Amino acid sequence: MERPVTEADLTFECVPDTDQSFENALAKARDGDRLTVDDAVELLTTGTDIDGIDRRRKEQVLEAADRRRAEIVGEEVTFVANLNNNVTTACNVGCLFCNFKDSAHTFEADYEGEMTGFTKTPAESREIVADAVDRGIYEVTSVSGLHPAFVLDEEHREILEGHPNPKEVNYIPADRYETDPGTYVEQMAAMSVDGVHVHSMTPEEGYHARRGTDLTYEEVYSRLQDAGLDTVPGTAAEILVDEVRDVICPGKIGTDEWLEAMEAAASVGLGLTATIMYGHVENEAHRAVHLQRIRELQDRVDGAITEFVPLSFIHQNTPLFEHDVVSGGASTDEDELMIAVSRLFLDNVDHVQSSWVKYGDEQGLKMLNCGADDFMGTILSEEITKRAGGTYGEFRSFEEYVDLITSIGRTPVERSTDYDRRRAIDPDDPPFGPELGPNADGTPLLTREERSERAVLADD
Ligand code: SF4
Repeated sequence: MERPVTEADLTFECVPDTDQSFENALAKARDGDRLTVDDAVELLTTGTDIDGIDRRRKEQVLEAADRRRAEIVGEEVTFVANLNNNVTTACNVGCLFCNFKDSAHTFEADYEGEMTGFTKTPAESREIVADAVDRGIYEVTSVSGLHPAFVLDEEHREILEGHPNPKEVNYIPADRYETDPGTYVEQMAAMSVDGVHVHSMTPEEGYHARRGTDLTYEEVYSRLQDAGLDTVPGTAAEILVDEVRDVICPGKIGTDEWLEAMEAAASVGLGLTATIMYGHVENEAHRAVHLQRIRELQDRVDGAITEFVPLSFIHQNTPLFEHDVVSGGASTDEDELMIAVSRLFLDNVDHVQSSWVKYGDEQGLKMLNCGADDFMGTILSEEITKRAGGTYGEFRSFEEYVDLITSIGRTPVERSTDYDRRRAIDPDDPPFGPELGPNADGTPLLTREERSERAVLADD
């Protein structure tokens, strides 16, 4: 049997080695010059002339990014009232960084073992979204596993039914499964309740919705848009360098196809976001090349990308960690530099997000002083807690948002997904958004104390 790849085996062509100096790169960043990949590598490493991170240099990079943030977007910190409604955890793609999916065969009707994942029918999705809309959310984000029965629409289903070897294109008919996810078009239409903004269909899902056909990405995104899709999350990007993708997600589409799908979505008029998932096998040169590919994409799509979201790899419970391909995730220094250099490098993307889900509250707030200006959303999330055995959603209330953002002297601003609508919140004038809070009076579903109690119970 072949020995699995380990950290020591990894050698890459793209390495953090430059002719630039840290001082020059910093001077360019301070002057607002467009940075090169070499500049970004110098800033991300705090200089390739030294080993490890130099804390004094790091502070200089963070300061430059914080100043740039203030110049571009001022003192506002935005957030959105949103719901996560993921349709299914069934997926056979086998990405080595993923702890979300469940092997698709465990969802089959005749599977006899324990099934821990979930699949929702379009009717179930609609009910969940309708309930959240009643509570005041106005965005639903939906990113799902690539369920083998999930198809774009009935036409796509017919093509796959007629395929000589459906398994070759990752298709298994819906009647083999306990629950039928319906089609992507049906799910988009179901979630599109009362004008709620539907943020869904990553490039990888876009690929799944055209697998085994000659359909173009334009055609796929156009049909989804007609069904209710509003914007496309630029996740599944991970690191947009194929030598890294070959290690962490060999079953996924390559860099060029990811970019092609994003361009197609923009070309039919859909807004985009963009991400990077860093802190696994990649090095600083890969991170810099990724930033360059996003900046070039943003130039090509004429500014359709509203925000950039750095996502620090969470290594626990992932095959990459369990098979010793990585020994951990990014350090806090690396996290801060990633946010800062994203702000400095992406001179054509206005907003950089600090993810409190990934960084936690304290560090999440610190990131708002390293170049970030957006603090995610309320994320009412039914399934996460259901999977953990709970009965309440997880979320962050408006009240907590206002507390946290004002604690660092910034202005809390509620925004729409596309940042077009904003409402600055006066911290001296509660309630802060009763019509948008998870409960009718704007209070959380669970108080902080209740959440702590639940955490203790869960630990037990
Ligand atoms: S495609 Fe998505 S859900 Fe499936 S294994 Fe990869 S990251 Fe996980």
